[in-house]
Amino acid sequence: MSSGPMRILVIEDEDTVRDLVTRVLTKAGYEVEGAPDGQAGYEAALARRPDLVVSDLLTPRMHGYEVIRNLRAAPATRRVPVIVLSAKAYPADQRKALEMGASAFLAKPFRAPQLLAVVERALTTTRVHFWGVRGSIATPGPETVRYGGNTPCVTIERGRDLLILDAGTGLRPLGVALQAEAGGKPLDLKMLITHTHWDHIQGFPFFVPAYVPGNRLEIHGPPSLDKPLEKVLRGQMDPEYFPVALGDMAANVQVNEIREPEFKVGNFEVSSIYVNHPGVTMGFRIKIGDTVVTYATDTEPYRRLLPGAHDGTDQVATDYAVERDKMLEGLVAGSDLYIADSQYTPTDYETKRGWGHTCYPDAVDLAVSAKARRVALFSHDPMHDDDAIDRKLAACKKMAAEAGGEVEVFAAIEGESIELFNDIVANAD
Ligand SMILES: [Zn+2]
Repeated sequence: MSSGPMRILVIEDEDTVRDLVTRVLTKAGYEVEGAPDGQAGYEAALARRPDLVVSDLLTPRMHGYEVIRNLRAAPATRRVPVIVLSAKAYPADQRKALEMGASAFLAKPFRAPQLLAVVERALTTTRVHFWGVRGSIATPGPETVRYGGNTPCVTIERGRDLLILDAGTGLRPLGVALQAEAGGKPLDLKMLITHTHWDHIQGFPFFVPAYVPGNRLEIHGPPSLDKPLEKVLRGQMDPEYFPVALGDMAANVQVNEIREPEFKVGNFEVSSIYVNHPGVTMGFRIKIGDTVVTYATDTEPYRRLLPGAHDGTDQVATDYAVERDKMLEGLVAGSDLYIADSQYTPTDYETKRGWGHTCYPDAVDLAVSAKARRVALFSHDPMHDDDAIDRKLAACKKMAAEAGGEVEVFAAIEGESIELFNDIVANAD
């Protein structure tokens, strides 16, 4: 991503307010561009993709709501945070702006420190976006339209930092979006791969940024059993399967095997463990700024699997399994968000023991005991339609409530984001 000071676009028709905002932000080290109306602001945002837009609501030529809607709809500005400034301090207006995708609402008149606090917060909010949430195989169709059919791909973003988790079929639309945002500038992308089962790598051959000269892609994943990770990735691009080889990708693609449990990827601090899944599979705890996201999909509790442990007939095996399961609990401990394997219902699990996945009550149990703030039910089973996922979510919410209700449970939805800041409405008093 680009370097240099953060660039902020200020859309405001009142000259005095625009000048004041520009002065305050420039003094704080930001690079500021002003636009006198909504239309000019929208065009400036498209042309130069700022890091943040600060917009009045009652802007001539294009109303503030329309500016937000258009910015959200355009690939180049889809993810640019927008702060709304307005003298219209009606709760309904504030809600509307936030619903339309604004990050914050700052009521006029405001003082400089309040503006700076809201700007700083918008630029340092961690956002997790779900590009693919389905386990095992892509499952498009009318039964999965609400939760989505693409296989695992998630991004964690904060300011200009972006980390891609897994390269399932959800990676394809992410690639299209990233290339549109880049506007011809080179991309410097970073990716973690949990393991190389198809559903976690199948989007890779269709990742547009990998074909663009000048782009850089750094991939980190577990060492494979008998082949280097790069070879495994290349394998799915053998001519029998695919027309283009990994080596033909025009971007600079570097594949690194993870050898140390703790490492840094750009500004992301990563801790990794091996999780319980066929083959070599990792779970990641990722810290960026003051936010921790744990991504541990495709794992099966040892105590459910190990002979003598799952039926409680062998105390030694049970103790060992509980001990192993505690490693995952340790990885998740205190996370702001735990993205959890929740593939099966308890009934599914009876016939799928040993398939390497978790039944959803275990995901909630672990989130509760690890004191995660939120748990995203993830890796939805291909056999589960939208209604089945609704039922899974309802059951998990009930479990969490019975456990004291401190963990917030939701089911990951393809195409949706979660911002890991809660109090996003700023007030003028
Ligand atoms: Zn797998």
